Amino acid sequence: MKIAIVGIGLIGGSMAISLKANGFATQIIGVDKNKTNAQKALDIHLVDVIMSLDEAIECADIIILSTPVSAMTALLPVILNKIKGNQIVLDVGSTKEMILKSVENHTNRGQFVATHPMAGTEFSGPEAAIPNLFDGKCTVFVDIEKTNPKAHQMAEKLYKALKMGIVYLDGKAHDIHTAYISHISHISSFALALTVLEKEQDEKRIFELASGGFRSSVRLAKSSPDMWIPIFEQNRDNVLDVLDEHINTLAKFRSLLIKKNFTEFYRLIEEANDIQRILK
Ligand code: NAP
Repeated sequence: MKIAIVGIGLIGGSMAISLKANGFATQIIGVDKNKTNAQKALDIHLVDVIMSLDEAIECADIIILSTPVSAMTALLPVILNKIKGNQIVLDVGSTKEMILKSVENHTNRGQFVATHPMAGTEFSGPEAAIPNLFDGKCTVFVDIEKTNPKAHQMAEKLYKALKMGIVYLDGKAHDIHTAYISHISHISSFALALTVLEKEQDEKRIFELASGGFRSSVRLAKSSPDMWIPIFEQNRDNVLDVLDEHINTLAKFRSLLIKKNFTEFYRLIEEANDIQRILK
């Protein structure tokens, strides 16, 4: 099984490591517009060979698109124009509606599997790739009824080889759920990091005093704008809705503090504690 990975960064590189280690892939072909990243991926043995996109499409059985989502909407129709026979294309993008729209009437739509592995870290590039990133996590298959059954089965095998569970959603539901589960927490982490960096000028103090709570709340603020701006552009409407709700909740906490209503504040914290029931 020859697998081409277009965009050899954190996600593409981590898939490359696991698919090679578990024997699913016999050859990993790397494609990346960033020549430094492509060379790094080769040097650290994430990929067996680097090719141009056209060369990779010529010889791969499966093509995995793992670039920022803005590049996916441009690349996906081009790749579907060029594939032949049973070749399969998967994307791993964090948004879905725009990507699906870019190929909705394409004659090779059936060979495309829209997926979103719900795993990651705050780091980017080939050196951020790690083994076992996907173990025990889940991936979302989106609008799967538009994919040919054989392509669907092959994608299932690939994700099972990555030890992932599979959840099925339509594009609209995917983008709404990820706005809540993933996208808003990044905005709130960027905002918290900015607030502290602006107000707390003493970097040494931040370093000395930052304990578990602050560190874990701002971890996501280390994430790359190259990856996140295209996500916010593509999922703008849903993220705006969630952001409005979040701002209302912050305003509620602010108002309770002003009124010194610690009884209601206590009650809201208890309500928030309920997240423990879902996420142990
Ligand atoms: P990443 O580490 O930045 O890797 C992306 C790679 O693709 C970089 O080397 C980038 O080069 C390259 N690239 C950009 N445009 C390209 C193009 N037109 N053709 C070929 N290569 C191109 O990003 P990542 O975190 O792996 O994210 C990849 C995808 O996975 C994104 O769509 C993201 O939404 C999705 N995803 C991410 C996570 C996460 O936690 N990070 C989780 C699940 C899904 P440059 O550095 O020069 O741009």
